[in-house]
Amino acid sequence: MYVNVVFPLPFRKSFTYSVPDELRKQIQIGVRVAAPFGKRTLTGFVIELPSKPNSEKEKIKKIYDVLDELPVFDEVRTKFYFWLSEYYMCSYGEALKLAVPAGTEIESKKIIYTDVPAIESILQKNIKQNSNQYKILKELSRHNKISFKQLKKIIKKKNIYSIIRTLTEKGVISVIEETASPKVKVKTVKIVKLALPLNEIYDRLAEIELRAPKQVSVVLEAMNNRKKDLMLSELLKKTKASLSTVRSLEKKGIIKICEKEIERKYEDEYSEQIKQFTLTNAQNEAINSVLQSVEQNKFEPYLFYGVTGSGKTQVYIELISKVLERNKTALLLVPEISLTPQITSRLINNFGEAVSVIHSKMSAGERFDSWRRINSGKSKVVIGARSALFAPLKDIGLIIVDEEHDASYKQSDSTPKYNARDCAVVLAKLYNAPVVLGSATPSLESMYNVQDKKYKLLLLPERVDNANLPKISLVNIKDQPHRKASESVITKILLDKIEDRLKKKEGVIILQNRRGFSTQIYCTDCGEIETCENCAVPMVYHINKNKLECHYCGLTKKVPDACNICGSYSIKYFGTGTERVEDELEYFFPNAKIKRVDSDSVSRKNSLSQILFNFSKGDIDILVGTQMVSKGLDFSRVTLVGVIAAETTLWLPDFRADERTFQLLTQVAGRSGRSTVPGEVIIQTYNEKNFTLQKVVQNDYQGFFQCEIKKRKELHYPPFTRLALIESKDLNESRALNALTDYYNQISKYGKYLKISPPTCAILSKLKGFYRFQILVKSDKKNDKGGFILRKAIMDSYIEFNRKSRFKDIKLLFDIDPQSII
Ligand code: ADP
Ligand code: ZN
Ligand code: ZN
Repeated sequence: MYVNVVFPLPFRKSFTYSVPDELRKQIQIGVRVAAPFGKRTLTGFVIELPSKPNSEKEKIKKIYDVLDELPVFDEVRTKFYFWLSEYYMCSYGEALKLAVPAGTEIESKKIIYTDVPAIESILQKNIKQNSNQYKILKELSRHNKISFKQLKKIIKKKNIYSIIRTLTEKGVISVIEETASPKVKVKTVKIVKLALPLNEIYDRLAEIELRAPKQVSVVLEAMNNRKKDLMLSELLKKTKASLSTVRSLEKKGIIKICEKEIERKYEDEYSEQIKQFTLTNAQNEAINSVLQSVEQNKFEPYLFYGVTGSGKTQVYIELISKVLERNKTALLLVPEISLTPQITSRLINNFGEAVSVIHSKMSAGERFDSWRRINSGKSKVVIGARSALFAPLKDIGLIIVDEEHDASYKQSDSTPKYNARDCAVVLAKLYNAPVVLGSATPSLESMYNVQDKKYKLLLLPERVDNANLPKISLVNIKDQPHRKASESVITKILLDKIEDRLKKKEGVIILQNRRGFSTQIYCTDCGEIETCENCAVPMVYHINKNKLECHYCGLTKKVPDACNICGSYSIKYFGTGTERVEDELEYFFPNAKIKRVDSDSVSRKNSLSQILFNFSKGDIDILVGTQMVSKGLDFSRVTLVGVIAAETTLWLPDFRADERTFQLLTQVAGRSGRSTVPGEVIIQTYNEKNFTLQKVVQNDYQGFFQCEIKKRKELHYPPFTRLALIESKDLNESRALNALTDYYNQISKYGKYLKISPPTCAILSKLKGFYRFQILVKSDKKNDKGGFILRKAIMDSYIEFNRKSRFKDIKLLFDIDPQSII
């Protein structure tokens, strides 16, 4: 018996192994196996059961073990992950890796065992200090064993292999492959049960009391709790008995101790009361349209455009309940879920135990247990951030992507760089299910798909409960007299409005989309700006930590007393972050309760939930924060929203800057006036006349869309073209550029079909120590509908690059449909 296996490595190939007799019963397509790979042991996925090996020549190795009882992906998902690997240009194995929770694989690691005294004696023999060899030896002389990975981290050199080889030959170290068991496992607890019928235990109690009186209380406790699972730890705590006391009762055959599996579950502290109301006509219409597709098991994408506060969530809930009635499952994707405890709580209110939550604040164990609950079919509704797309739900009847315009659906940091919204549409198609993309500010791509008749439009044009959209005004910062001359970043108009709301005990939200205190520090004499050494960006001043911090790599520095370059003491702080706004608000409103919401202040589990809960009760008056306060919050007591500077996103050097600005401002404005008391929004700006800001004020999505889509067409940007960003990165600047130039020389051969920009340095030209260069490729959708030409050009050029370039060891990264091109 043979299996074809793919590994989560960049190779595109599958490998054939044979299956030892004792494992045959467990083998099926979709299970994971541990198998030898070179000298290593790796976890791979069984994708085929061939009748004979791929090639006759290779020596066929045996797999070591089968890791799953049930397949980790079904037939539909097989197609899905295959599509994903093709579209986003990764290997099949890399795509399949998304299907399983992290930490559950078996892998071997190279461990270096050292002969410390022998190494020390080498060190004494005149090796040049600071040479690579010296550094590595010095490090090895401190450990009896160290992994390759650790050593590389400490030494920060890639090419330590030759030195390791020399040392192996000298016999002072040995390198051994050790197989590590999975990091994440099923969690069990010990529980205590009676081993005999009650009457028999009664008969023996007297004897126990006589010989070992301490044991009696343990037996009684176990008898009292015989109907439930009594945890050993609880028993010990309650009776104050020792473990040996319990063990000796076990030996006597009176009780038994067994292992019971328990489930780790993430509990959010935020919860809401269930509200009852009758659906509006618009809500009913939307529901009925989608229901038709649900009933016909028909793939149909819907763009669900409902203004802020129009009751989209309730439509989701009604639809999900219909899908469950039909015994199917439903998936609801939301942007970074830890930011949206409200929608989670509403779902749990409606569907209770059937709901599983998946998001980044969960521990690996909690994720693993959610995954198992879903895979076993116990859980039929999944709500989660982008990775929830890969939850093993079966027989999906409906997929919903809430806030479909949100940039966090794009995975930008690791391979494959997928967009969960776009993948959701493909997945729905494979399951013959409808997919609903909801937003109050639809992405240009999705609205264009409506125009193009690819998506059906569902519309909720009005707020529920007779609430009106808020009145939005722009305030020109330059024209405003400030309360405390030149220093304040909050205009008098906004301050007065805040004061008014505080008096009325109404809620206020203030947006400033940068964290920290000052976002730039510079010397007024020579103009030097404090930047990060690893990244080409200014350092941000944080007043609470009293440190400078790089927001890209996390590097921190002391606040300088004088300029590094000219020594001048005239150092200025510039640019406003949330901390500064918080600070000013505290100064102007010493009696108000103010909370800051940004990734610095809500890093702890549940801290956001607590803040939101207190805000909803009126225990917090003002929330000030980054885009975190702009998403999904639905609090009827909020009547004022203030934006400190509209410019933070407007000036980004990205073709989506206007779109992002429109979305962010419309969304944050939508937090205001969600009930009977009318809402108001004040946006501070230097660009009152700016078209995008005007459209926000007029609440004119259509007007914005028409104008923006024209620009996209003229400039050959999505949705008219498909983009690919190809990036090289290396610690050495010229090597990174050379590699990309070599690649460019290959791909430019496709210039007839594609628009290819020559290599330029990225706007963030250095990140975490790596120099970055980019090529932007545009492919016209008219000629290249599915993007086949684009992908073929990229892939073939890559193969040529790997064959010919002297710099082929340099990492090239492919990003299809990039969300940001900086
Ligand atoms: P959206 O997501 O469209 O911004 P939500 O779904 O948060 O809006 O709904 C806004 C508020 O309106 C919620 O508090 C919700 O409970 C309430 N709501 C929803 N539908 C109705 C309805 N038909 N009648 C009254 N209130 C409703
Ligand atoms: Zn200076
Ligand atoms: Zn940095």
